[in-house]
Amino acid sequence: MDACKTPPPSSGPPTPPLVKSVLQDAEQTRLAIEMIGLGARLQVLESEVSLPRVRLIRLYKELCGVSPPKGMLPFSTDWFVTWRPNAHASMLLNAYRFMRRDGGLDGIRAVLAGYRMYREQVCVTGAAAELSFTRAWTLVRFHESGMLQLARCKCCRGNYVVHAHDQRRQYVCRLCMPPARAGKGRKRALAGAAG
Ligand SMILES: [Zn+2]
Repeated sequence: MDACKTPPPSSGPPTPPLVKSVLQDAEQTRLAIEMIGLGARLQVLESEVSLPRVRLIRLYKELCGVSPPKGMLPFSTDWFVTWRPNAHASMLLNAYRFMRRDGGLDGIRAVLAGYRMYREQVCVTGAAAELSFTRAWTLVRFHESGMLQLARCKCCRGNYVVHAHDQRRQYVCRLCMPPARAGKGRKRALAGAAG
């Protein structure tokens, strides 16, 4: 009955892999809070914030009152080129690129600023924001990895999200040529609409 051989319990969680300064730690915590406030999923936080997963989960629980949802991010590139979401995706991507080009921001900072700008624009029109922050972040990832790009509509001169393999020359957006009027034969303009 010698039950006294167990080592003394450790006094806390294991040391995080990255030793950072207090200021960096505070900055990363603020970033996480900002992202959680906009509705970011845990996978997004893990990709962008250099804090241990356990701390991100604790932060999420404290701020939202519930555990973060489990499972993979469900989005594919097709969603962003379907009729209604495409207008929103295009607004977001234009805002993101504006923040990079003229705002001097990059990475997650450009995504956050672009997302806020998108929400303000949508708010002015009185519509609801179709893109959650996590969807917006996913869209930027697809764009940065070359899977989605912007094409300029030859009618309204606006820039719209299209698949990387879609024809960009002579492109007509769905606001100028909505699917209902486009007819069955217009495959090119409707590519991906079934997504
Ligand atoms: Zn157009």
